[in-house]
Parts: sequence; C-alpha cells; structure tokens
Amino acid sequence: MLGHTLLAASRKPPVRRLVTSAGVSRRLVDRFVAGDGLDDAVDTARNLLADGLSVTIDHLGEDTHTLSQATDTRDAYIALLDVLGGFALTPGAEVSLKLSAIGQALPEDGHRVALDNARAICLAAERAGSTVTLDMEDHTTVDSTLAILRELRHDHPWVGVALQSALHRTEADCAALAHTGSRVRLVKGAYAEPATVAHQRKADVDLAYVRCLKTLMAGGGYPMVATHDPRMIAITEHLVAATGRAATSYEFQMLHGIRVTEQHRLRDAGAQVRVYLPYGSDWYGYFMRRLAERPANLTFFLRSLFSR
Ligand SMILES: Cc1cc2nc3c(=O)[nH]c(=O)nc-3n(C[C@H](O)[C@H](O)[C@H](O)COP(=O)(O)OP(=O)(O)OC[C@H]3O[C@@H](n4cnc5c(N)ncnc54)[C@H](O)[C@@H]3O)c2cc1C
Repeated sequence: MLGHTLLAASRKPPVRRLVTSAGVSRRLVDRFVAGDGLDDAVDTARNLLADGLSVTIDHLGEDTHTLSQATDTRDAYIALLDVLGGFALTPGAEVSLKLSAIGQALPEDGHRVALDNARAICLAAERAGSTVTLDMEDHTTVDSTLAILRELRHDHPWVGVALQSALHRTEADCAALAHTGSRVRLVKGAYAEPATVAHQRKADVDLAYVRCLKTLMAGGGYPMVATHDPRMIAITEHLVAATGRAATSYEFQMLHGIRVTEQHRLRDAGAQVRVYLPYGSDWYGYFMRRLAERPANLTFFLRSLFSR
C-alpha cells in the first residue's frame, strides 16, 4: 500500500523536483545505478564479469515523448553494444530494453517506431555476440510488447522478455512462452496496477510467482528467475534438484546493489547469476520503484533528506 502511494506521488512534478534536486538522493542512487555514463556501465560490468557474474545493462530512460528522444536512446544502445563487443565483454554482458524508451508510447505509430528501433538494437547485439531482453512495463504495454517480441524472434530467436506474476494474465503468458529456446525473465512486477488486471495482495503475487516458476521450469525454455526473495530462490533450487535441470539451462537475476552476498552464494553454489545493471542520468523512475519496493530504502532516503 505504501509502495502504491509512493509510486502515485512520484508522478507529481514537485516530488520529482525534490528527489532530483542536487545531491539529495545521490548516495542512495549510487547504490543502485552504475553511474551516468557509458564508461561507468562498462567498468562496472567488467568488474562483475571478473567476479564470475553476468550482467544485463539497462540504459536508463522511459516515457520517451519525442521521436528524436527514441532515436537517441536506440543509438545509445547500439553504441553500448559496440563497446561491449569491442572489449570482448560479450556474451556475459547483454542489454535490457524498455520499449517505452525507444518510442512505444509515442501517440503516432509508437508500436512501429519501437519495433524498428528494437530491430536495429537486436542487429547490433547480434554483431556484438550479445542478446537483448525486453523489460515489461505497466499492464497497458503487455500486448504490444509481446507482439514486438514475436516479430523480433523471427530473426533473433534469442530475444528474451520479462513477465510479471502480479498480472492475472501472466500464468497463461508463461505457458505460451515456456517452449524450447524461449528466454523468459520472471519478476513479481514493479508497477502499481488496478485490481481488474492484477493481484493486490503480496501473498497472491508470491503464489502466482511460484505457479509461473513451475510452468517455466517444467518447459523447454530458458527461465531467468529474477527475484531477491529468499523463498522464491529456495523453491527454484528445490525445483532444479527435483527435475535435474542443468545449471546452464536457467539463471538467477538480481538488481545491482541488492542482496550482493546472496548473488555470491548462488554463484559459489554453481548457479548462473546475472546482475541487472542500470546506468544513465535519467534514473528517477527506476529509483522511485526501488524505494517503493522496500520501506527500509525509503526510511534511509528520508533520513538523508533531513540530515543534509
Ligand atoms: C533482474 C531483474 C529485472 C527486473 N525487471 C523487471 C521488469 O522488466 N518489469 C518489472 O515490472 N519489474 C522488474 N523487476 C522488479 C521486480 O518486479 C520486483 O519489483 C523486484 O524484484 C522486487 O521483488 P522481489 O522478487 O525481489 O521480491 P520482494 O518480495 O519485493 O522482496 C524480497 C526481498 O528482497 C529484498 N529486496 C527487494 N527489493 C529490494 C530493494 N529495492 N532494495 C533492497 N532490498 C530489496 C528484500 O530483502 C526483500 O525482503 C526486475 C527485478 C529484477 C531482479
């Protein structure tokens, strides 16, 4: 409930001004974000890879309102992939892509613009020996995102997608996408959604997560289990042991800066672990979702506001 209230407040301009005002949030932002520039992302990625983890890099930005913003974001991804390939950081480093950042929400032709830009990014990923995973945003974007996924997979069957257990529809989407070769990242969902489309109680989101997990682990695809929740991780480990799934046929994913000790424990136990690594100056939306997920982060942030 607190999370929903915070996400609603985050859309108000005065809140945005307060949070983004110089220095206020920087210490906490730095915990979650590699830095503002491409170099920051590449340096952090290199360190994580050297540590035996893999990475999926997100060029921060969402709610793109102009065609030129969408084109700039596309070009930033292509430049990133060129650098990752040039430094031989692939295939351990891939990218995560929000379709809204490359035009999906544009009033005219947004779906087609996002598809065209995503195609260009996939071609750059192919050249670099890397892969792309489509993030999932709020429920109004799911049909368009899955349609774009289908189009991209004609040429690039390795394109992955995130599905959110919070949404009622997701159990069916998991069943449809649990086929051989299909890379699916399962998350709980970071958006405040209405009861018409989404579970409202955390317990129901968690139960749906387990049902989706079972479907993906029983299928022939490549599940990407994206959670910090100790119970979901334990259930995954149990399913792997029970089904004899190979360690190379699935992976855990966690956000940069969150439960790092657990990332290392899983790696040391022989599991593949990928870190979701955001970078860029447009960190506001990403940061507010991280605050909304965890009251402790919010308390820390508020304390830093008043102890300036
Ligand atoms: C790799 C990755 C990619 C993601 N991609 C998407 C996406 O495309 N679309 C989308 O809607 N959501 C995405 N998410 C976010 C996701 O939907 C959840 O909001 C987020 O992961 C918190 O849920 P949880 O499964 O960790 O469980 P929770 O029940 O929220 O948390 C379990 C425990 O994890 C720790 N924890 C969780 N969040 C935080 C935090 N912010 N700070 C510190 N500790 C924390 C705490 O110990 C908490 O008790 C992604 C998450 C990950 C890990």
